[in-house]
Amino acid sequence: MKILVANLGSTSFKYRLISFDGDDATVLAKGGYERVTDYESTLNECLESLSAGGHLSSPSDLDGVGFKTVVADGVSGCLELDDKVLDAMARCNDLAPAHNPPYITGIRQFRKALPGVPLIGLFETAFYQWIPEPAKRYAVPASWYEAGIRRWGFHGASHKFIAERSAEIMDRPDVAGHVRDLYITDQPVREFERPLRVVSLHLGGSSSVTGIHNGVAIGNSMGFSPQSGLPQNNRVGDLDSFAVPLMMRRRGLGVDEIEKALSRESGLLGLSGVSNDLRDIDKAAAEGNANAALAIDYLVHQARHWAGAYLLQMGGVDGIVFTAGIGENRADLRARICAGLGELGVEIDSNLNESVRGSEGLISAAGSRVKVMVIPANEELVVAREARRFIQKNRN
Ligand code: AMP
Repeated sequence: MKILVANLGSTSFKYRLISFDGDDATVLAKGGYERVTDYESTLNECLESLSAGGHLSSPSDLDGVGFKTVVADGVSGCLELDDKVLDAMARCNDLAPAHNPPYITGIRQFRKALPGVPLIGLFETAFYQWIPEPAKRYAVPASWYEAGIRRWGFHGASHKFIAERSAEIMDRPDVAGHVRDLYITDQPVREFERPLRVVSLHLGGSSSVTGIHNGVAIGNSMGFSPQSGLPQNNRVGDLDSFAVPLMMRRRGLGVDEIEKALSRESGLLGLSGVSNDLRDIDKAAAEGNANAALAIDYLVHQARHWAGAYLLQMGGVDGIVFTAGIGENRADLRARICAGLGELGVEIDSNLNESVRGSEGLISAAGSRVKVMVIPANEELVVAREARRFIQKNRN
């Protein structure tokens, strides 16, 4: 079975073609296009190059296309992207303005280019369908909850991959198998004789922390929208909601200006005043820019804040995982986030930590009770697996 995983940005289209032989997945090809104005013609270009490379004999050779869709009104999970689901996504456009509109446009164009090929969305919120009720809620009036103001949680495909892979690394095939079957079992919250508690830190252009108990998420630092939790590249992260009406009154800002400031001019960019990319911020900090240094300190502070929250909710932790651009590449930040936690059983081996860059590896000391790991993000694999399973289920 061949699944194309399509990652759509407002002007970009990245893809991976994944082939399955039973449960074994192989990436046949990957690539991307920038400055995309029309997904349909870019998709056709992509299909031609996949045919030329011998990976597809024709577009109908594709069994399905999987999308890492973000959020939809009232639905989640792994779903066929029909008009009803696209309308539900459109109702959340203001919740994920950088993600939902390009996905909806792109999916409609994919449909024209690939008639009859199932288009499947794995929603980023899907991994959080079993979080406890208090973790789903805000303390707002009932009418606000009915209007959809609740915590969702995002980066679900990434954290699900971490849940499974970390369980494998920690020699817990029982939990790894449970994670693999999560979206098809009726009993997602399973007890194990030995619990497995993992804190997963996805630190990249956007960042979030998830607590994972026995393979199932108990919460995520992003809430109602991907703007909350840790500071993102240029999105704000957590902010007291009363700052909004105050700025509207004091500075006469309108809703659009507020939205722009919080979603494009805040986060690491807003704090540092330098860039939304940590590499540039680092350089400025090294040259003595105090705001740049503060942006990095703030990221570390917030990562510890959220990791600590889940550690307490789970009554302890057995594994800590770093993933995504910053988590995979920044040994110095990993060391700072785990500093001073000896009493909690967390000891980093600094040589191991320094040696792991963009690859999988254990970075905790031999005697550390808690295993600390780096696991490269692999959201595409999770999307492809779920799309395959959805297609197989609906064929039978
Ligand atoms: P992501 O969204 O996962 O692609 O991560 C992007 C972030 O990771 C940016 O802030 C980059 O500064 C950081 N990053 C990505 N690659 C590297 C690298 N090789 N070394 C240091 N930082 C990196």
